Amino acid sequence: MRLLLAMMKHETNTFSPVPTDLARFRAWGMHEGPEVVKAYRGTNHPIAAFIDLAEAAGAEIVTPVAAEAMPSGLVQREAYEYLAGRILDALRDQGPFDGAMLDLHGAMVAETDWDGEGALLERIRAVAPDLPIAVTFDMHGNITRRVADNCTLFNCYKSYPHTDMYKAGEACGRIFLDALAGRVKPVMAFAQLPVLAQTLRMGTADEPMHSLQAMTREEETRPSILCASLFGGFPMADIPEAGISVIVVADGDRAAAADSCDRLLAAAWAQREEFVYRHEPLEQAVARAKTIEVRPVVLLDHADNVGSGGTADSMTVIREVLRQGLTDVAVGAVRDPEAVQAMMRAGVGAEITLDLGGKTDMPSIGATGEPLRLTGRVRRLSDGEWTVRGPMYTGSRVTTGPTAVFETAGVSIVVTSLHHEPWDAGIFTSVGIDPAHCRYLLLKSRIHYRAGFSPYEKARVTLDGVGVTTSDNAQLTFDVLRRPIYPLDPDAKWPRN
Ligand SMILES: [Zn+2]
Repeated sequence: MRLLLAMMKHETNTFSPVPTDLARFRAWGMHEGPEVVKAYRGTNHPIAAFIDLAEAAGAEIVTPVAAEAMPSGLVQREAYEYLAGRILDALRDQGPFDGAMLDLHGAMVAETDWDGEGALLERIRAVAPDLPIAVTFDMHGNITRRVADNCTLFNCYKSYPHTDMYKAGEACGRIFLDALAGRVKPVMAFAQLPVLAQTLRMGTADEPMHSLQAMTREEETRPSILCASLFGGFPMADIPEAGISVIVVADGDRAAAADSCDRLLAAAWAQREEFVYRHEPLEQAVARAKTIEVRPVVLLDHADNVGSGGTADSMTVIREVLRQGLTDVAVGAVRDPEAVQAMMRAGVGAEITLDLGGKTDMPSIGATGEPLRLTGRVRRLSDGEWTVRGPMYTGSRVTTGPTAVFETAGVSIVVTSLHHEPWDAGIFTSVGIDPAHCRYLLLKSRIHYRAGFSPYEKARVTLDGVGVTTSDNAQLTFDVLRRPIYPLDPDAKWPRN
């Protein structure tokens, strides 16, 4: 048996000004050929499960590319063509294959095609029309009809933070190998809901996702159902097919797949109001944080969530925290390579005045970058390299580029050269900050921080700053998103009702 295994992942925020070129893929993870196996074996990625299963089945594997970039703006043509080209070339030159197992995201928007995954799968099918294809997607995938029509089966993560990436890959891979061996015959039912859900309302420890994902697991115990996926979708994408979708794979029984799909859609539709985030004024929320006695309190700068395409240098929330005099705060993290260089020149212990952050304009929300002038001390310098020990991306090597800790008025700010969402405590421990001993942990994150920080978190305050990952739809302009869609159109109807 010969199998093609590849990964090509990006969550594209069409409002983000952060460019997505090949360098951005290289900065987080991009490997080719046999290097793919070396880089991902033993990690908590779907492709690691594909590798384990293929090897256990005695298959010969070809791994043209495995690449992921942290969320940001449109994937540039050159990057998209390079990565898709590696996969298509392998199909043409190293085939024939018995099947392909792909680790994709589902919310990739390329400059050349708003449906990055649909376009990739369509091109794969053009080269190899009968190739069985299994795909794992992120729960935030905006899954399209074109995707569903161009693969054999797919599965998505059931937890957010995504601590079950390997598990999702393993489930998908097992069904696929069973299908290749003729033990099962996958048939899929796919449908979308007209609901643009906020990712801030999709954490699986909370409702409504807790019950909805429990329901997908329950559906999987029904006769003939092989796997069931409920996608929350990714709302920071002005593309026609953004939003919630459901896919159910059954063993030969189309009616069972369709029934299961309908039950999940109906349950998600009934919960649609719960997917809307309610705003609290920033000043009021910071004042509330000040009165909380327990520690540490997590402060979420969710409008500048790097893991959804934030610029990581919006200073609105940090400014308000300093203005209201909160102390014993650790901030993870502001991206400002110029400030890091200035701190490296000054050296550890030096007092320095910086125009920190605010280097990136955000034209999609009509905001220009506003640095914050601060005087403080350089506390630590680092090369920004560490290994993830927490439950998300476990075992992956992280690089935030040259990194420094700047301390001002009782606030320690980790300043990095690359964008990085703090979903692992390593962002602090790698630079000598113990999160357990801080009063406040100010994180440019939304839900993923829970992977690494839930052991520390005693209370949480969500802070509405300024940024391209705002949860306030009114700040974003949707030109091509299909309408009507809830909650942009409060009277939107689910067509089956
Ligand atoms: Zn995700």
